[in-house]
Amino acid sequence: MVGIRYVDTHAHLLGRDRENLDAASACIERAAEQGVTIIAIAQVPRFWEATLKLAEKHDNLFVALAAAHPDNSMIETFERLVALCRSEPRVVGVGEIGLDYRQARPSDLARRKDQFREHIHIAREVNLPLVIHDGKATHDVLKILEEEMAMDVGGMIHFFTGTPRQALRAIELGFSISFGGPHTYARPLAELVRSVPLNKLLAETDSPMLAPPRNRKNQGNEPVFVIDVIKGIAEIRGVDAEELRKITTANAIRVFRLDEE
Ligand SMILES: [Zn+2]
Repeated sequence: MVGIRYVDTHAHLLGRDRENLDAASACIERAAEQGVTIIAIAQVPRFWEATLKLAEKHDNLFVALAAAHPDNSMIETFERLVALCRSEPRVVGVGEIGLDYRQARPSDLARRKDQFREHIHIAREVNLPLVIHDGKATHDVLKILEEEMAMDVGGMIHFFTGTPRQALRAIELGFSISFGGPHTYARPLAELVRSVPLNKLLAETDSPMLAPPRNRKNQGNEPVFVIDVIKGIAEIRGVDAEELRKITTANAIRVFRLDEE
């Protein structure tokens, strides 16, 4: 596929307080003007249809779907998820899904682990890569990926914060590692950014959730800033920015099979 200069491998376009499709469209267009393709994460069923509608309108938008929400009556929702993954050509991944221990271990941890496992089953069933969320739960996340044979489909771990050793383990399990704005300036993360082989490295904004790259700090976060994320990673790696742009774009196209449309 021509025209993909950059890929923001992880962005949230719609949310509880951001349901305006026009605002999302404007954001996608600003990205398109710079050659940025977006993988939009719709991890709540409520936003599946609207996100897919946006993808119909915008060539530079692909979608990952998940049903990671405590309120979902699961069996029916999972059936719908499988159906959409099969029927919608713009759906290129399953996620984001995973575990998050940043606040505290969730009281419903067993249920969350089950949900995580179920998404891996679905990804394998529909043969799509996984988008994994790891909120300081790397050990358990990697264990479940291994137990459920996520390797069959692989995918990416987004905003990775495990150790360099855990990053290499994730790579052994078939995953690429994605870095965002804070990785470009938070010193303790630099070693991690340096430790991932270039052919397993992805860039993301996780907009609007995450802080943007430093030079964009007062602007809120949006997908087009992935250009700055890539520049920042290139600096840390001591690689030419244009070179890293090419590498991360090729990696994203490979992981999400964006050229198979
Ligand atoms: Zn996210």
